[in-house]
Amino acid sequence: MTLTEEELITRAIAARETAYAPYSNYKVGCALTTGDGSVFEGANVENASYGLCVCAERSAIVAAVLAGHRNIASLVVVTQSSPPAAPCGICRQTINEFVDDPASLQIILVNVDGERRDISFHELFPFGFRGEHLT
Ligand SMILES: [Zn+2]
Repeated sequence: MTLTEEELITRAIAARETAYAPYSNYKVGCALTTGDGSVFEGANVENASYGLCVCAERSAIVAAVLAGHRNIASLVVVTQSSPPAAPCGICRQTINEFVDDPASLQIILVNVDGERRDISFHELFPFGFRGEHLT
């Protein structure tokens, strides 16, 4: 089963409600699909030791990888920012690790008021460091 974009956005909005953000009150939700159409959600999880905070995007990616999926096909991020916020630098590098073709991934950024901004991952993170650089 492949979700529509609107269904994936709905899943990301629902995931955002599970965020643990008692310090910033900045809840973020993420939903991604993998190449076979599987869906994984994530939300930010904060910690009193701020450096331990985990972003929604990375929690969704970790869930996908734990289930054996390593290829992100689409990704939605939901925030409360206007305009909708983009993934942080650490998440961009993490997304880059699990995208076969960074130029083909479209990222959908939305906020709780329904604003939407679509951006290509390549535009968001050009010249990313990849495993092939290590060879
Ligand atoms: Zn992040």
